[in-house]
Amino acid sequence: MENNKLKEQDFLVASISQLSISGSASPPVVARFRSDSLLFGSESDSEGAVQFDLSNCQLYKLGSARSLCMSEASDTNKEKSYSRGITIEFRNEEESTAFHRAFEQWKKEVAVQGSSLPNGIVSSSASKFDDKIEASSAKMYFHYYGQLLHQQNMLQDYVRTGSYYAAVLENRIDFTDRVVVDVGAGSGILSLFAAQAGAKHVYAVEASDMADYANKLISGNPSFSEKITVIKGKVEDVELPEKADILISEPMGTLLINERMLESYIIARDRFLVPKGKMFPTIGRIHMAPFSDEYLYIEIANKALFWQQQNYYGVNLTPLHGTAFQGYFSQPVVDAFDPRLLVAPAISHVIDFTSAKEEDLYEFDIPLRFVSSTGTRVHGLACWFDVLFDGSTVQRWLTTAPGAPTTHWYQLRCVLAQPIYVMPGQEITGRLHMVAHKAQSYTLNLTLSAKMWGPGAEQGGILQTSSGKLDLKEPYYRMSQPQAYPMSQDQQPNQLLQTQDLQIQSHDEEASDLLQQSM
Ligand code: SAH
Repeated sequence: MENNKLKEQDFLVASISQLSISGSASPPVVARFRSDSLLFGSESDSEGAVQFDLSNCQLYKLGSARSLCMSEASDTNKEKSYSRGITIEFRNEEESTAFHRAFEQWKKEVAVQGSSLPNGIVSSSASKFDDKIEASSAKMYFHYYGQLLHQQNMLQDYVRTGSYYAAVLENRIDFTDRVVVDVGAGSGILSLFAAQAGAKHVYAVEASDMADYANKLISGNPSFSEKITVIKGKVEDVELPEKADILISEPMGTLLINERMLESYIIARDRFLVPKGKMFPTIGRIHMAPFSDEYLYIEIANKALFWQQQNYYGVNLTPLHGTAFQGYFSQPVVDAFDPRLLVAPAISHVIDFTSAKEEDLYEFDIPLRFVSSTGTRVHGLACWFDVLFDGSTVQRWLTTAPGAPTTHWYQLRCVLAQPIYVMPGQEITGRLHMVAHKAQSYTLNLTLSAKMWGPGAEQGGILQTSSGKLDLKEPYYRMSQPQAYPMSQDQQPNQLLQTQDLQIQSHDEEASDLLQQSM
């Protein structure tokens, strides 16, 4: 988007006459758009050209083929420091219209460039996307997706790509002779699937430079290339020549909602889809369940042990131990875990892409209630998602659940700095509050509570409560699967942990306050 500069453009006009200076260029006259200026002069001689600074001139229509170009007084204008103008006679109405259109485009381009910050960040907020997303985040995001290696990584997730392929080709009826929009087309793979399923036409909208590679890939598949048009731009900004019967997209990030692309999917629906049109995927669900994973907990807590050294080259590091400890627990853990670590059946939160409003995705507040199937220490909340392709022929789910074939999304776990103890059959309650932020991700606030067992519980319910605040943008990718810890036989997990011992706070308010203060 930021880089697709307009090419230099020339227009032949019948004549011009200057208002403030006598005389006019001898015909034929050429109007030239060059970077940030508009020049009028004779075809051969660019010397005596009249120059306008595009950032401070206006074009007015005086008649069907007659216009006035006026510039404000400006210090940057080398020639003159007072306002001036020329009338332009066009050869016909069409050429006048074309010139006016080009003028508007060039002015827009100059306005965008004019607001560029020194580091290349564009601060104009012309679109819905730019209003809510930090320019620096968007720049990195689209740079990432502009690289083929990251598209390859997604293409090589065969669970993912295979599910899309099957969902499209098993539901040919939803694509045959239909207009399709591919929202965030990347390499163009889903557009090519839709074309294979007999689409009438596919508009592949992609904001990153990957759009150019998509074009190349599609051109190299001539049996489908006629049916696909790649459009480089954000779905929030681009215009399409017709409405779509069906949208196809892969807007899912970690925990479904990371990257905030679901919002773009919904905006695309509102902008491009015919009423009652189809969406592939149709709905998404976030699943959540408490888990117990002593090794993971210790691994995270141990990362901060470094800061417990009192003599690190003569320096006492302990003042930063608390901050480091909380910092490690603010990272959601992304890996594939064994579903046997779950201590209760999962609950789920459904997002219907066909009816959700964009604003619905700015904040989620999910009440949690589980019944523990075992007596253990609960270390946090495990999450994963699935999406449904609600085809007319076949309904197909793409799942990222633990135990199912692993995808590049893996699963996500929010680990609490303070585990809670539960008995079999005991209720675990809490809340997962997720708030979108400008860096295309979410802040996660998790609270889990369980009543203490034993005499205390019977006498009025003393709660153990544990809370954590995590940033979905900063995950800890922990890929190594069945955990083999470099631990000697006689070394027990709790010895490794040393000082971070696990005292239950016996009053709910106190415990969560304590934890919250230190966040
Ligand atoms: N559809 C491809 C790529 C999916 S990744 C596939 O399934 O393999 C998501 C893609 O959407 C990225 O290439 C990203 O650049 C693009 N994207 C994200 N937000 C977008 C937006 N608002 N407008 C256009 N493209 C967007």
